Amino acid sequence: MAYSPIKYLLLCSFEYGMYKNMKKLKLPDSPQTISMGSIIHWNKPISKRDRSGTIRTTILIICGKCKKERYWRLDVVFRKMKTGQFIGVCKKCFDTLTWKEKHRPHPANRKVNSAGYIRIYSPKNPMADMNGEVYEHRLVMSQTLGRPLKKWEHVHHKDTNRANNSPENLELVSTQQNQSLKDMTTRIKYLKKLLIEHKISF
Ligand SMILES: [Zn+2]
Repeated sequence: MAYSPIKYLLLCSFEYGMYKNMKKLKLPDSPQTISMGSIIHWNKPISKRDRSGTIRTTILIICGKCKKERYWRLDVVFRKMKTGQFIGVCKKCFDTLTWKEKHRPHPANRKVNSAGYIRIYSPKNPMADMNGEVYEHRLVMSQTLGRPLKKWEHVHHKDTNRANNSPENLELVSTQQNQSLKDMTTRIKYLKKLLIEHKISF
């Protein structure tokens, strides 16, 4: 395809910018194993021109199911990891997976917020907020019940550890119950403090 000189220059500078950004990016030195057992060899990037002449950085990924080696485009890998659907298996193996295996949340999309709760990126979930995130304890409870939770339903952590989201540690409570539980824990904490202050063993 023939471009006008200006368009060609623009395209070149854009490509060069992309290439420079890729070079600036510091990739991890060691291979990373992701879900499904696929291995991303971050330390083996290869830059080459594709059919249209654009420079693309690719990295070696080993399929977790058939162990076949394949070079993936780095920008594609980044995009897929961001949306939580990257499991690194090859096209042939991907077609044999069940819906649940294809859509499970990636550990990279599991993060702890400032209050100590775990948030999961899952934009297709009916309980997701505007950022496409769901609280993990609500997600676990809805999976146990087999339905999405209502807004007024709260999930209480029995051991008060907000990061312990195992099904046995969670119980469903209404707003009112949740408030009285919170009040009770605050009161217990206060009493414990008093006991310690007065050096009374308990
Ligand atoms: Zn495969």
